Amino acid sequence: MAYLKIVLEGDPVLRKVSRPVTEITPRILQLLDDMTATMRRANGCGLAAPQVGILRRVVVVETEPGKVYELINPKIVSWSGEQCEVEGCLSLPKKWGRTHRPRAVVVRALDRNGQEVEYRGEDLLARAFCHEIDHLDGKLFTDPGTLVGEVEVEE
Ligand code: ZN
Repeated sequence: MAYLKIVLEGDPVLRKVSRPVTEITPRILQLLDDMTATMRRANGCGLAAPQVGILRRVVVVETEPGKVYELINPKIVSWSGEQCEVEGCLSLPKKWGRTHRPRAVVVRALDRNGQEVEYRGEDLLARAFCHEIDHLDGKLFTDPGTLVGEVEVEE
């Protein structure tokens, strides 16, 4: 297990589209473990592979301590409702902003065994799924269309 370096806003890697995982190799499993460790150390509730400089469609989410979602090639397959809550990002330290997101989503992905899984998330978990999957398409929460109002910068 290793801690990975989190890429910060301004690095072009955060604006690229990540490639799907075609084979779940030991390297992908290691990446999942390292991403979870890195997310926890940074006190985050989600991390996407491009945030550690790897352009693969891999995400980890932990909005409830101990319950880690490992998502490979995740896709939002349904969504409902709306929410407008405050979000931050480990790649944009000290920045906060309100976003427009669905209140609930269903995500389909592969787990570490290559099995197709579906998870339903509401409220914070729905936000985290949307936020991390956006990273795989080079999007940030501060982008127009997601951000509502202004970004707040903590001094
Ligand atoms: Zn983020």
